[in-house]
Amino acid sequence: MIIQRVVLNSRPGKNGVPVAENFRLEQSTIADTVQAGQVRVKTLYLSVDPYMRCRMNEDTGSDYLQPWQLSEVADGGGIGVVEESKHQNLAKGDFVTSFTWPWQTAAILDGDSLQKLVPQLVNGRLSYFLGAAGITGLTALLGIREKGHVAAGANQTMVVSGAAGACGSLAGQIGRLEGCSRVVGIAGTDEKCSILVQEMGFDAAINYKKGDVAKQLRELCPGGVDVYFDNVGGDISDAVISQMNQNSHIILCGQISQYNKDVPYPPPLPADIEKIQKERNITRERFLVLNYMDKQEASVLQLCQWIQEGKLKVRETVVEGLANIGAAFQSMMNGGNIGKQIVSVSK
Ligand code: NAP
Repeated sequence: MIIQRVVLNSRPGKNGVPVAENFRLEQSTIADTVQAGQVRVKTLYLSVDPYMRCRMNEDTGSDYLQPWQLSEVADGGGIGVVEESKHQNLAKGDFVTSFTWPWQTAAILDGDSLQKLVPQLVNGRLSYFLGAAGITGLTALLGIREKGHVAAGANQTMVVSGAAGACGSLAGQIGRLEGCSRVVGIAGTDEKCSILVQEMGFDAAINYKKGDVAKQLRELCPGGVDVYFDNVGGDISDAVISQMNQNSHIILCGQISQYNKDVPYPPPLPADIEKIQKERNITRERFLVLNYMDKQEASVLQLCQWIQEGKLKVRETVVEGLANIGAAFQSMMNGGNIGKQIVSVSK
């Protein structure tokens, strides 16, 4: 059977900025027959995520990420529909997902590697299982629960960087649902800041590309910062950490501002900021959602319930067509997305 697939065409280099041309669309084939235990799936949605930048390097710098190989098909979070099954628990028409879905229009996959999806849990919005009801939502929820020390009634102020992105937009809302009394976001455009406040219930948002972030933070967080959900690292995080309270907590979710640099993860803080962190006893423990998969089922149900109740507002930026996945990745890394960046493959 003839399919389309996307392979890694070239590496951006350890310190390079990734571009769409790092990926290449090509025609390929899959077997015409499905073996016992396998299914043939049609791809519906693919996820592009910042961690993929590390997979573009020969050395990912991480023990849990495998590098993509040149001229081999890329993979990541994906959703599809079963078209033929020789697996006992999967039938034609089932919707399924995997963290290692190949970037191709159809595939033959081991049925045991797939999780069955229930579309009703997300009001039929299947792609939410890659975002708000998937690994992104889990990252926001479990990051806050495992590392945030948020307590209802404790009058805590939370700051979120990368706030209009997939994780950040959920993290601010979940921080509020879990009990924070004030939530302030930091994002890269006025439009994003306006959505955070008007649509997602943030108290305020700062456009870090305009004006002095530290000054605006002082005005918007007069009682200091108790919880910092950090997606970006770098100068933005230094400004936030400087205004954190004694015994406060950083949720070290990601450091996207450093992903095009050859630095270790997590990148060390500058000496003056590290001094503040130590003197104020601010926790900054590494958080990796994959370490908490025993809580996946209950947490996804919680996220789905909030989505159904309208308590969690979800935004997606959907790009049509497998051919555009490299451009979608490039755009997301440059701030072109609001909420979760998804590639729709069916059209
Ligand atoms: P995302 O936030 O939807 O997309 C990336 C966003 O980062 C862009 O839209 C852009 O928005 C912002 N950005 C890019 N370069 C930046 C820079 N130099 N400084 C400040 N902001 C920058 O992506 P996501 O999937 O939600 O991931 C967010 C973070 O969570 C990433 O660091 C990712 O690695 C991490 N993550 C961690 C885990 C975990 O288990 N710890 C799991 C999933 C994701 P602006 O317009 O605001 O610049």
